[in-house]
Amino acid sequence: MPLNAGFQTIQLPFAPLLVFSGRHGRKRDPNADLKEPVPLAVQRLFNAVPKTELHLHLGGSTPLPLLRQFMKENGLSRKEVSKVAKVSDRFVDLDDFLTTYYKVPAHVKTPDQFYRATRAVVAEAAAENVRVLEVRTSILKKGGAPEAIVAAVERALKDGLQAAKVHYGFEMLGSLIILAQRAGTPEDSLESARLAVELSRKPGSLIRGFDLAGSEGQHSVDKHAAALRYIQTYGKPQGLGLTVHAGETPMSDQLSGVDSIKKALALGADRIGHGIQLMQDPELLAYSQVARLPIELCPWSNVQIQAVKGYGDHPLKEMLSKGLNVSLSTDNRMMSKITLTEQLGQLWAHHQVTSWDEIKQLTRNGVNAAFLTPMEKTRALKNVEAAFAAIEQNPLNQRTIARYLNNNAPKKRLNQFA
Ligand SMILES: [Zn+2]
Repeated sequence: MPLNAGFQTIQLPFAPLLVFSGRHGRKRDPNADLKEPVPLAVQRLFNAVPKTELHLHLGGSTPLPLLRQFMKENGLSRKEVSKVAKVSDRFVDLDDFLTTYYKVPAHVKTPDQFYRATRAVVAEAAAENVRVLEVRTSILKKGGAPEAIVAAVERALKDGLQAAKVHYGFEMLGSLIILAQRAGTPEDSLESARLAVELSRKPGSLIRGFDLAGSEGQHSVDKHAAALRYIQTYGKPQGLGLTVHAGETPMSDQLSGVDSIKKALALGADRIGHGIQLMQDPELLAYSQVARLPIELCPWSNVQIQAVKGYGDHPLKEMLSKGLNVSLSTDNRMMSKITLTEQLGQLWAHHQVTSWDEIKQLTRNGVNAAFLTPMEKTRALKNVEAAFAAIEQNPLNQRTIARYLNNNAPKKRLNQFA
């Protein structure tokens, strides 16, 4: 997926990697000032790192060419498609981002389109060694019955995981999180929660969780309390997890990002999506440390909506150093024009991730926070540790880790290869 103009794609065994092509690169990237070049050896290493992705919106991660195809299938003329299928690099704020979100990814409508979108997302994640993938989507008011949409996503997940196994030789675990929109009505959220519980009871179902997403600024979690309580009462006893987008932005009208997280926790959230505002409150920070609260971090997404100024201003490093239970996700691969490998590279270039141990910790945290059964979790942890051990045994990787990922690396590492 294109991230940096000025970089060119080369073909390697896993995902496409990017090579800095200097001043003679292609057209200027409007986010160039936010991005730093990453040495090829580091990119190769990061691509090979076993990863988890717990926070991924299906529509917002569907490749744009596929979405264009869906738009045509949904009756848009060629002119309309070229008008609609546009995504900016950055947004004024979350609401600005959501305005585009409700126009472009919304074209994943029919069960067949959900199937193809899910296959594409699983394939992209597998290519960069994602071992645990949780895909989230809303299922109401689409181009088909919610039951048919869930069945299509589950089938695509199973087919995609099987294809990953055949192609790459590793076990990838995948599941589905049913999403309710903060902007939706409380009745719709409750219906989504009811469907999540009912459909997860079907044999072989991959529904493992429920999420509340959208604008904190305009819609307090309280509005959807009935849905969250429904999951608490009926979903959790049968293994469903509850995650809530909260503390993504500093203010939620009269509610601060900190209050937003506290309310989500009071309503039973097991995990918090984003949660970066918790660093503003010592009491909440202490609670999160003690409770090992899983926090799904999506740093580039936060930069993209200007919740933080740049990678360098993100609290990830501080959260890691305080022992918070943070993992890494993209949020929206297409809307954010990023992969996990690219995001990891930028976090490294901006000194947010400086040691090999930190990278391993992010993956371990992700596996432990995933909505997996205990047996699946044990298996995934074992596979991830084996993958790390294989990386560490390779002399080339040993040199890359020693040179670029030891805590004593000089601050101006970039000069070493500039
Ligand atoms: Zn999200």
